[in-house]
Amino acid sequence: MDPRSRIEELAEFCYRRVSDQKLKYALLVQSEAVRAMGDFLRSRGFVEILPVILSPVTDPLRHATGRAEVEYYGQRYQLTRSMIFHKQIAVLGHERIFSFSPNVRLEPVELADTGRHLVEFTQLDLEVRGATREDVMALGEELLVYTLSWVQEQCAEALAVFGRKLRIPSRPFRRVSYRDAYDRYGTNYEVILSQESEEPLWIVDMAVEAREFYDREDPERPGTLVDMDLIYPEGFGEALSGGEREYTPERILARMERAGLDPEDYRLYLEIARRGLYPSAGFGIGVERLTRFLCGLRRIEDGVLFPKVPGTLSL
Ligand code: ASP
Ligand code: MG
Repeated sequence: MDPRSRIEELAEFCYRRVSDQKLKYALLVQSEAVRAMGDFLRSRGFVEILPVILSPVTDPLRHATGRAEVEYYGQRYQLTRSMIFHKQIAVLGHERIFSFSPNVRLEPVELADTGRHLVEFTQLDLEVRGATREDVMALGEELLVYTLSWVQEQCAEALAVFGRKLRIPSRPFRRVSYRDAYDRYGTNYEVILSQESEEPLWIVDMAVEAREFYDREDPERPGTLVDMDLIYPEGFGEALSGGEREYTPERILARMERAGLDPEDYRLYLEIARRGLYPSAGFGIGVERLTRFLCGLRRIEDGVLFPKVPGTLSL
């Protein structure tokens, strides 16, 4: 097909899609979920900060993604892959912060079929100065329960259109250690556990090589991190990732080197860490994945207005 008719076809698709009834209902659910999460966090003393889009340092992630870089007057910026470093620095000011933060992750095209990956997405990213993993796990459970209850109450018509019955999970959520999950199910543990579960569950204590350098290593259990993922039930997969953070420059450097990263690439972050960071904990929850779960959508892009599926051109 010549490029012109490809663009015409895409334009036609975008034009029609905006008024699609199901998409409109999904966006309504998302709007209420965003409201619920913001209200809940503000009621707990959190301050909303605005997101960062360009930065000289961003999350390395633990899997290979393309680099999204911008060069500007000799300065090199990257598009934010997550606000992790900015969150750690932001809690030097306010003790509890959150942001609805756009993340760009140039995922390989093989991930287009998972139904869970977008190249551009928004995550509710939060951080709490002085908090432990237990604190933010309790917070994450309450946040999810509050949001599910709010959406159930406010979006009955939309949920009926999707034939979706939301269960309000009971707390505390079940916990499975990363090593047990891995031993039992292998690399696909997340998918299998999610498919088998009717309630959300936590995966805790990731292995050091399985996560980014900023998740704190347990000094009592070398090789094990004080971190967690929350997994949605019914096969919807990962909801959030988070944990306690490495915050001393020595530990940050050691972990970076162990992960094979060049500290030079993180110089600005390290210089700030040398001036003193607080211990903190937090997590990031993907908004589009949450929408998918709330509406029971087969694919993430079914609930996104301008979805960036890996390898596919979109508005
Ligand atoms: N930075 C993590 C992520 O984007 C979330 C977190 O640890 O706060 O997956
Ligand atoms: Mg994650």
